[in-house]
Amino acid sequence: MLAIEKQNLHRAVVLSGPCFYCGAKAKHADHIDAKVNGGGCKAENLIPACASCNCSKNSRPIDEQTRKAAKIQAFINAPDIVEVAEYLNAKHVAKRKSEAGKDMARLIDFIYKPLRDRGLLVGI
Ligand SMILES: [Zn+2]
Repeated sequence: MLAIEKQNLHRAVVLSGPCFYCGAKAKHADHIDAKVNGGGCKAENLIPACASCNCSKNSRPIDEQTRKAAKIQAFINAPDIVEVAEYLNAKHVAKRKSEAGKDMARLIDFIYKPLRDRGLLVGI
């Protein structure tokens, strides 16, 4: 399995539903336990949040009841989020490989074109 890139994990969290705190459209993956407080960047610690809730929360701790509810929701969401993040990851890797392939084809063309133009290469 490929390591999930952080941006794909965050995208999967944002896609998983509305803002956990207010129900508005989610734009951010909120760290329930802030990174500065030792919260990890893993599905079990991430919850979808709108920009307003995420920014107003910042790294201040939320009340314990909300924190527990968010943790439970993140735990329930985690398997689906990891699956979506893995899918996004695989898609990105495939795109990069395809772009690398095109770069290689351009490079080969660049190298061989002068020879081909002079009729020194046939069939390449
Ligand atoms: Zn919100």
